[in-house]
Amino acid sequence: MFKSRDQLEALIVTDEMNAVEYPLMEDFYTIQGEGAHSGRPAYFIRTAGCDVNCWWCDVRESWDEDAHPRETVGNIVERAKDSGAEFAVITGGEPLLHDLDPMTFKLKQAGIQTHIETSGSSPLSGYLDWITLSPKRFKEPIDDIFPYVDELKVVVLTRKDLEWAEKNAEKCPESTQLLLQPEWEKEGAVELIIDYVKEHPEWGISLQTHKFMGVR
Ligand code: SF4
Repeated sequence: MFKSRDQLEALIVTDEMNAVEYPLMEDFYTIQGEGAHSGRPAYFIRTAGCDVNCWWCDVRESWDEDAHPRETVGNIVERAKDSGAEFAVITGGEPLLHDLDPMTFKLKQAGIQTHIETSGSSPLSGYLDWITLSPKRFKEPIDDIFPYVDELKVVVLTRKDLEWAEKNAEKCPESTQLLLQPEWEKEGAVELIIDYVKEHPEWGISLQTHKFMGVR
């Protein structure tokens, strides 16, 4: 079939996107265990590299980008497509350390919705259907992300984190889903959140259900 010059150029550009590489810690088909889409099957893409340094981080092995192989967009999208997942969750590490335009463009072109979980501490990029902001005090979000936040998910260890949650919620659109998530191993965090949500019903609770279910 005849294709116009513009169409051909677009094809070449999107073809080049397949060759773009990201440092990748792992990618796998699983169940989204937390947040607004909890319980739905999803293809997880965990990029390597993080400069936020949360002391309680449970994926420290993701921090050093150079400790992980680089993988092409083409291969990642192929595997995501083969999994049959309706949506992909791009997480890290801190995924916004990388320009997500090529990966998200190709995922969407393959009919896969694109979700991201980010601290928002690096510039926003990508063609994204759902943005979960999980802000960290150790490296605060850049203000540019706030108008686009679909879900604000704040990890809570102490009362101080509740103040941090409110500070971030003030900057989000009214439509943003507000969730507090207890740090898995911190004693007392669940009780703290339960009391808080009863008094502030605009907030909900997110639990790391994949840990109960024993899936990663
Ligand atoms: S932002 Fe995420 S990956 Fe980075 S240190 Fe914090 S919890 Fe770990």
